[in-house]
Amino acid sequence: MLQQAARGGRMHGQAEGRALVLEEKGRLSLRDFAIDETLGENDVRVAIHTVGICGSDVHYYTHGAIGPFVVREPMILGHEASGVVTETGKAVTALAVGDRVCMEPGIPNPTGRATRQGMYNLDPGVRFWATPPVHGVLRSSVVHPADFTFRLPDTVSFAAAAMVEPLAVGVHAVTKARAHPGHVAVVIGAGPIGLVTALAALAAGCAHVIVSDVDDTKLSIASGLGAISTVNVTKASLDGAVMAATGGWGADVVYECSGNDRAAAGVFEPLCPGGVVVYIGMPLAPIAYDVAAAQIKEARVEHVFRYAHVFPRCVAMLASGAIDLAPLITRTFAFEDSVAAFELACQSPPGQVKMQIIL
Ligand code: ZN
Repeated sequence: MLQQAARGGRMHGQAEGRALVLEEKGRLSLRDFAIDETLGENDVRVAIHTVGICGSDVHYYTHGAIGPFVVREPMILGHEASGVVTETGKAVTALAVGDRVCMEPGIPNPTGRATRQGMYNLDPGVRFWATPPVHGVLRSSVVHPADFTFRLPDTVSFAAAAMVEPLAVGVHAVTKARAHPGHVAVVIGAGPIGLVTALAALAAGCAHVIVSDVDDTKLSIASGLGAISTVNVTKASLDGAVMAATGGWGADVVYECSGNDRAAAGVFEPLCPGGVVVYIGMPLAPIAYDVAAAQIKEARVEHVFRYAHVFPRCVAMLASGAIDLAPLITRTFAFEDSVAAFELACQSPPGQVKMQIIL
């Protein structure tokens, strides 16, 4: 449903319509919300179709803050989105009205030092959807830079396209690992980020991925995604499984996707000599780091914060079928049911990987 600003084709004006608003910590409402958005000459206006519920959205709802980012005024949630272009700025040539698209939710400052060095995800001036004070996109439309808006081929569904944002994290992590064909990888955590990381590792040529979690339903989804075996760490030892699978050598890459302090403290145990650990899951408090365990394997350690330069590659892998995200989308809600969807998401229901809202 296109709303007034898009229908009227105004270059500037109040976009109106209902939005999912985090009024304050613990209080959500689906209500009319006006946003003043100007369509610049390099921008497009996008009617939102599908939005994924991310752990960060849920955390703002339950805690009102993530680190230094504190919700002080009502804020629209949602940053994993796909939609349709309804209006283009004068200078936009790569996109046209009617194009189906997904959007990269962070808009860096083009003159920032990190941006100019290519690390635009680390630009302190980045404006990222649903990170206070920037509104998210659980609303009828958004104005966004064309450069961060990516056209979808017909074969890529809106649901899969709204998963490109988390997939980008996994692809960025595998890129930072410098993974090679034939590697054995461990992925700790079978949530959305763990599973997209496993898929990205397989797409990069991993021979075998071993995924660990405590949720059997999520692990059974993982084992259906390809050359993946699983370990429920409440019943078996991850290190034992990895050593058994690698003749006692260990995994070439360990991707820590859980953010769990106990799991993350053990990352060097299943690693092979000279292997790589990539920290992806963000712990809520400082965690243990075993320097001696890392030293005796001369581990290389990488860290990931969001992603940069990977959306086009993600769309290409969905388009070709190299990656299929459909099994990760475990539940879909109507926009009217957004508040109930978030209430459910807060409870981390077993077996749910990615829940999405369709506008
Ligand atoms: Zn997300």
